[in-house]
Amino acid sequence: MPSALLQLSRVSRTFQVGDETVHAVLDIELGVEAGETLAIVGPSGSGKSTVMNMMGLLDRPTAGDYIFDGQPTRALRSADRADLRNHAIGFVFQQFHLLPHLTALQNAELPLRYRGLSAAQAAAAARDALAAVGMGHRSAHRPGQLSGGEKQRVAIARAVAGRPRLLLADEPTGALDSATGVRVLDVLRGAARDSGAALVMITHDAGIARALPRRITMRDGRIALPEAQ
Ligand code: ADP
Ligand code: MG
Repeated sequence: MPSALLQLSRVSRTFQVGDETVHAVLDIELGVEAGETLAIVGPSGSGKSTVMNMMGLLDRPTAGDYIFDGQPTRALRSADRADLRNHAIGFVFQQFHLLPHLTALQNAELPLRYRGLSAAQAAAAARDALAAVGMGHRSAHRPGQLSGGEKQRVAIARAVAGRPRLLLADEPTGALDSATGVRVLDVLRGAARDSGAALVMITHDAGIARALPRRITMRDGRIALPEAQ
């Protein structure tokens, strides 16, 4: 039997905006197995990023429970949440979110340095990760000296250098042309596979979503049925 990496149980997330209550996510039931790949699709505003932020321990449900790697997260203090996030979860964003004044190598090292690894250990792991995404020869470049596809490869290296259990990607190909996007997707899936991480990816690209083994569609804060569509 496959083992659950994470489980959202009856999870809702509301936001209070003035007098209005925005139901961004409503009563979601969703499990992800260790090493699994999952696409989240759906129209803009349907709650995809809100779900991902909760999975990534960047945000917390206003109702329901989130269990990550066997651990109920509701009662975790923020320092423990941050620690769990840093050790177990890697993030890839549409706009890369690389620090412009740091080299590719320094960007990839940064989460490992936060984790308390020595400079030498962090550099070694970051070098390996950059090589694995085909960016070893660009280690000394700063983001401004890289193409969009290269930036995203560096961001993928940063996300997997610490060997996360879960890789979260919010529109990772959204800022790339389609040919580059296909190559970056291959790199992302390869990186997840090599590090044994589950990959959860939000995408607007129907072709990309179809290429993934499992998809869920969000609509108005809920998971649309059937899940297999
Ligand atoms: P998606 O990623 O599918 O485009 P989001 O998860 O970003 O959708 O947003 C879902 C809904 O929640 C939207 O109506 C959005 O405006 C609202 N929302 C998201 N974040 C906030 C916030 N911090 N404050 C208020 N409303 C929010
Ligand atoms: Mg979004």
